[in-house]
Amino acid sequence: MDAKALFSLSYGLYIISTNHDGKASGCVINTLHQVTSSPTQVSIAVNKDNYTQSQIEQSGKFEAMILTQDVDMDVIGTFGFHSSKNMNKFETLPHELDEYGIPYLTQHVASRLLCRVVLAMDIGTHMLFIAEVEDAQVLSSEEVMTYAYYHQVKNGLTPKNASTFQETNNEVKRGWRCTICGYIYEGDPLPSDFICPICKADASAFEKL
Ligand code: FE
Repeated sequence: MDAKALFSLSYGLYIISTNHDGKASGCVINTLHQVTSSPTQVSIAVNKDNYTQSQIEQSGKFEAMILTQDVDMDVIGTFGFHSSKNMNKFETLPHELDEYGIPYLTQHVASRLLCRVVLAMDIGTHMLFIAEVEDAQVLSSEEVMTYAYYHQVKNGLTPKNASTFQETNNEVKRGWRCTICGYIYEGDPLPSDFICPICKADASAFEKL
């Protein structure tokens, strides 16, 4: 099997969030799809190692934010490479709460969908949720982010927990690699005061390639 064949698939980039027992959580996914129009249903696949996955399983509801191209890589870093178990990812970012108290970002989001889980299926590493869209709102007319744009223009990385992760996703270059998020600093030496632009780890978290 040529695993590169899967690279031909196209995806968007999304943040999903939920609120369970008063605790907010959220993470980045690239696996949101509309699966039916009547009723309006979507599917998402979320890694079972993600804290947000178990929180959605328990709350039965989530917000899905469709990101735009100008989203800060900081936001991707926070939601894609840290766990909500230890932090409130929304705290320092512009957000609002929906009718269930689920936070959603209000900047660099094309639209948001409030979804109610109708089916959860264990598919191994990931949980597949089918959900009915209860409410939806357009927030911006900015261009939406595609996964290709994230990789090619924003130089973004694929976290190990992503449905589409392959070792070859993150092409090995020369330089220094952040052991937290995989960001690669192309150059040598690594400045001693360097801070990872994605996950904010300091120079000690970097390993030489
Ligand atoms: Fe990093």
